[in-house]
Amino acid sequence: MSLRIVVTVKYVPDATGDRHFADDLTVDRDDVDGLLSELDEYAVEQALQIAEDADDAEITVLTVGPEDAKDALRKALSMGADKAIHVEDDDLHGTDAMGTSLVLARAIEKAGFDLVISGMASTDGTMGVVPALLAERLGVPQVTLLSEVSVEDGTVTGRRDGDAASETLQASLPAVVSVTDQSGEARYPSFKGIMAAKKKPVESWDLSDLDLEAEEVGLEGAYTVVDSAAERPARTAGTIVKDEGEGGKQLAEFLAGQKFI
Ligand SMILES: Cc1cc2nc3c(=O)[nH]c(=O)nc-3n(C[C@H](O)[C@H](O)[C@H](O)COP(=O)(O)OP(=O)(O)OC[C@H]3O[C@@H](n4cnc5c(N)ncnc54)[C@H](O)[C@@H]3O)c2cc1C
Repeated sequence: MSLRIVVTVKYVPDATGDRHFADDLTVDRDDVDGLLSELDEYAVEQALQIAEDADDAEITVLTVGPEDAKDALRKALSMGADKAIHVEDDDLHGTDAMGTSLVLARAIEKAGFDLVISGMASTDGTMGVVPALLAERLGVPQVTLLSEVSVEDGTVTGRRDGDAASETLQASLPAVVSVTDQSGEARYPSFKGIMAAKKKPVESWDLSDLDLEAEEVGLEGAYTVVDSAAERPARTAGTIVKDEGEGGKQLAEFLAGQKFI
């Protein structure tokens, strides 16, 4: 039977853009361009390598996000994934990590899966909690933060590198894994891949397709909310020390005044 791999991919605001909060203290997503979270490219790459080693595998990429999040799905499809699912609903506005994991888990259950592969963290929220929340919600084992991953005979095996040691971990499928930026460079989409992606199926689901009510997600269902936010103060010009014989002393006094020494 085909190995069903679901890769969770997040559409994130471009970190090089000028990002702001909207009036309700959610991220203003209309104000900045977005892209596939770079850390999720590693998850797509590992899925492609596992599928290449398997007799028969199918890779579905899944995102929860606004209309433009389709761009993230197209990029993953052009890298080589087979099909995509986009969960989009106005009531998702303000959804936190708990809500996002609920929506993702329902969508993964509906799609059917043997292996879920996530990035180690998104490049905007960077909480790194969604893979563990997914495993809990799906009731399957989790093997997170892997720098190497393979699948054989219904078992996923991975290596997690720590500061002092590397661990080899295994779980029986179905399971959730997350992979780090050490797992191997993500491939660039080829021209052929980009053209092929245009014809690959992208399904759109909303909350009712997942038997979810509006109040279970969005700001209303959120466990975490942003209470207040303030613009970072503009950079000051700094202090220039002119060395006219006393430069070293002045530097030392400056550093002591800032409690650096
Ligand atoms: C339309 C929308 C509005 C939102 N509004 C808010 C808000 O106002 N306040 C707030 O706190 N949060 C909001 N969120 C949720 C937030 O952006 C994060 O998705 C969520 O909090 C998860 O945290 P994280 O990104 O740090 O996840 P992490 O745990 O760092 O992510 C780890 C991995 O989980 C997967 N993943 C995470 N999010 C998604 C996703 N959306 N789709 C697919 N895969 C994913 C990726 O593989 C990622 O690499 C919103 C999300 C959406 C889709």
